[in-house]
Amino acid sequence: MQRRKTLLVGSGPANLALLTCLKEWGSSVLESLEVLERRDSAEWHPGIAFEDSMLQVSLFKDLAFLRNPASPFTFFSFLRDKELLYHFIHTNNLYPSRKLFSDYLVWVSRFFANKISFGKEAVAVRFREKPPGTQTLVVTTRDVSSGDVSEIEADDVVVSLGHEPYIPEELAVDSSRVVHSNFLSSLVGATSSNRRMTTRS
Ligand SMILES: Cc1cc2nc3c(=O)[nH]c(=O)nc-3n(C[C@H](O)[C@H](O)[C@H](O)COP(=O)(O)OP(=O)(O)OC[C@H]3O[C@@H](n4cnc5c(N)ncnc54)[C@H](O)[C@@H]3O)c2cc1C
Repeated sequence: MQRRKTLLVGSGPANLALLTCLKEWGSSVLESLEVLERRDSAEWHPGIAFEDSMLQVSLFKDLAFLRNPASPFTFFSFLRDKELLYHFIHTNNLYPSRKLFSDYLVWVSRFFANKISFGKEAVAVRFREKPPGTQTLVVTTRDVSSGDVSEIEADDVVVSLGHEPYIPEELAVDSSRVVHSNFLSSLVGATSSNRRMTTRS
């Protein structure tokens, strides 16, 4: 069984923000840490990451700015690295596209490429008694493509799974016409100009 000091489940903004903290603080926790992510990248809500669909909150609520405006992991650091800073400032818009924000999260995730195991899902967690009177956690993982199951033992587990898309029963009438907004791109691709699209939040 593999052993890690700390195991993070999910590579969404919550755990990416945690990684940026640990990195900036020079924390030794990073030395024995692994992130399990069941998807194959850190893209943010890819099903709605359109160029003309905007972020719903201030970009200053990125992964690092409120904690440390001088952090190398802010949205502005990303823009500067991609040589987009000048262009972005002249758009006069404080709400970047969801696509650009998703690109930012992928950019941050690449600093931790050797820590994040993509395509690996956590399926269960249990305590393991360790003498004398201590416990560790054992997380069962599943390789998404091969289905292989294995276990990782860890002292600490951080679970940041986000939300599961949910369609109320009374609306789940026709999956070809009613989709959760998280999968909007699959519907848009198949939508002709005379079809109607309504969103509910
Ligand atoms: C459609 C939609 C639009 C949104 N728009 C905004 C917005 O504009 N602004 C805003 O601030 N917030 C928005 N939110 C809220 C959003 O939830 C948060 O912004 C943010 O994504 C939450 O981060 P998180 O890391 O907690 O969860 P998530 O971003 O959901 O990330 C969780 C990650 O965990 C992974 N995961 C889940 N289960 C497992 C498992 N068992 N094993 C391994 N990996 C697993 C998932 O694949 C995912 O990558 C939106 C949410 C939704 C659903």
